[in-house]
Amino acid sequence: MWFRRDLRLADNPALTAAATAEHLVCAFVLDERILRSPRMSAARVTYLRQALVDLDDRLAAAGNRLVVLEGDPATTLVDLARAVGAAAVHATTDHTPFATARDEAVRTALEAVEVPLESHDGTAIVRPATVLTGSGSPYQVFTPFHRAWKDARHDDPLPVPALPPAPDGVPDGVDATDHPLLAADPLDEPWPDGGEGPARDRLDAWLADGVDDYDDQRDVLAANGTSRLSADLHLGCLSAREAWSRLDRRRTGQSTFATELAWRDFYLHVMAAWPEAARTAFRPEYRDLPWHDDPEGLQAWTEGQTGYPVVDAAMRQLRRMGWMHNRARMIVASFLCKDLLIDWREGEAHFLAHLVDGDIANNNGGWQWAAGTGTDAQPFFRIFNPVSQGRRFDPDGDYVRTYVPELRDVPAPAIHSPWTLSKDDQDRYGVVIGQDYPAPIVDHAEARDRALAWYESNRR
Ligand code: FAD
Repeated sequence: MWFRRDLRLADNPALTAAATAEHLVCAFVLDERILRSPRMSAARVTYLRQALVDLDDRLAAAGNRLVVLEGDPATTLVDLARAVGAAAVHATTDHTPFATARDEAVRTALEAVEVPLESHDGTAIVRPATVLTGSGSPYQVFTPFHRAWKDARHDDPLPVPALPPAPDGVPDGVDATDHPLLAADPLDEPWPDGGEGPARDRLDAWLADGVDDYDDQRDVLAANGTSRLSADLHLGCLSAREAWSRLDRRRTGQSTFATELAWRDFYLHVMAAWPEAARTAFRPEYRDLPWHDDPEGLQAWTEGQTGYPVVDAAMRQLRRMGWMHNRARMIVASFLCKDLLIDWREGEAHFLAHLVDGDIANNNGGWQWAAGTGTDAQPFFRIFNPVSQGRRFDPDGDYVRTYVPELRDVPAPAIHSPWTLSKDDQDRYGVVIGQDYPAPIVDHAEARDRALAWYESNRR
């Protein structure tokens, strides 16, 4: 069993298939192409280390263990398969272009020693390429996809299988608790522990207390009103199918939450059907947009120094905890692409480099949605106003106060537009604009007009 981003025993079709053999070797390969990539984040590395330890503990309790190897899986897995005389290697299909190419290389290398690579579903709730329009093509728009997806076959989650023992001759592997590829600087606000055990506890807690308020709370920036299960789902410590199957979808909050899980499936299906969208605009008419080269604007955005409090709070939340609220992701992404006209791929890369849940399909889907270049995207002429978004989704200013302490004493009516405070009020609230906190780096009304004209004249 070759684990990748399915680090769980429950509802793991690949593991269930592998466990029917007489002997079972469970392996994970530390691949520096992933772990040393500039698109990898410290939060994700830390989560992965914890999840591998958790997985090893669970396998040990079931009479097996995890062998952690290091290197190119096309070499290490072949060596392992030969050392233990493997009859097959089982893995869960992943749909990113990197994973697809890697798996083809591994498949070819294993074939040379006559060991088949058996791929199983297990990342999406419903298998990609099975939810199709009447003319047999994949959906590009979420609402009809969702309708068809709900009618598609949803298999029940699988129980934890009984595991056969490991054979003789399994190498020790490396120590995941203390390996340089799994070392990462701690965040200011560390994310809760990774792994199947903690992920299931989080799901239980969310279903017991949280999900029923999801409809009301999910857009409140200062509230802890979403599940925060995204990292668990990304690394597969939690099966999305299990989460979905435990919902009572007749209840409003649970039904809305189920729809978000369907969005995750939608972007996985899109990525499986159009892998090229991982690198370029999904819609051809937006492929040649002359995005601005604006290193200063990009830096102000990444550092949370744009002068727009809700944007800055969100960008600082990302750095502090490796996670950002979904509404905030939409606001900052719109700001980068539309107010600054900076290429969405810059934002996508920055997110991947910091997020604990950085996920190629969801992140790309979210960025292309915000830029107006994707499937079912926000149209280019819908441009978020960072002041009104802030007032609407952070009416008391608590989200801003948490992450932008310079504005701590500014009262709610002005906290989303502090540059409108008089000089006296700036002194009174201890924040001189341009000195203690930046003036806005662009005027939103002007930036909006500029973006409208720019998109209009540059799309094909
Ligand atoms: P909840 O609201 O509790 O949602 C439950 C789960 O549903 C999430 O964990 C996630 O798996 C899925 N989900 C929710 N919203 C979406 C969505 N819009 N698209 C796809 N799946 C969704 N999500 C990631 O997992 N990884 C990313 O790298 C990522 N990058 C994003 C970038 C941008 C620009 C935008 C706008 C959104 C991005 N999202 C990403 C989607 C969403 O913001 C996060 O999934 C969500 O904020 C995670 O918090 P949660 O688990 O509390 O979400």
